[in-house]
Amino acid sequence: MGDGTRQAGSCRPQLRAWKSTAKGAHLRGRRTRDTKPETELRRAVHAAGLRFRLNRRLAGYTPDFVLPRHRLAVFVDGCFWHGCPVHGPQQFKGPNADRWNAKLEANRRRDEAANIAIARLGWRVVRVWECETRADVDAAAQRVVVAARGDDSGFSVGDD
Ligand SMILES: [Zn+2]
Repeated sequence: MGDGTRQAGSCRPQLRAWKSTAKGAHLRGRRTRDTKPETELRRAVHAAGLRFRLNRRLAGYTPDFVLPRHRLAVFVDGCFWHGCPVHGPQQFKGPNADRWNAKLEANRRRDEAANIAIARLGWRVVRVWECETRADVDAAAQRVVVAARGDDSGFSVGDD
């Protein structure tokens, strides 16, 4: 946060009498954007014409949303805790490094277990990184759309 250190229009070298303005007060009211990645993705998926359901439990796991018609489960994974290749921690250091590594490893194992368990129900799983939704939510939604349409995309276990 660089609060008030620099403001638009203050690049004139000449300092004139400073006046407090209503506009300045308005600028201080920070616009917060607290939309969650999964909310954004759902919106884009819905806009692409797919219908989803929330809070559907599958094999003891709860995907962020599911497309029942396509038997597709969608998870939006936080970059840090799920170990995104770009934003996940490469290595923990310090006194608690082992604990953090263990926690991350446990998350990875649980993700993997969820993929397998859900696939065994005959559903497919798509995992979208949080950063994908932030970079281009429509492209991320497109991955879900493609997975919903194709039978071979997404994660599956060949158990039949
Ligand atoms: Zn990421």
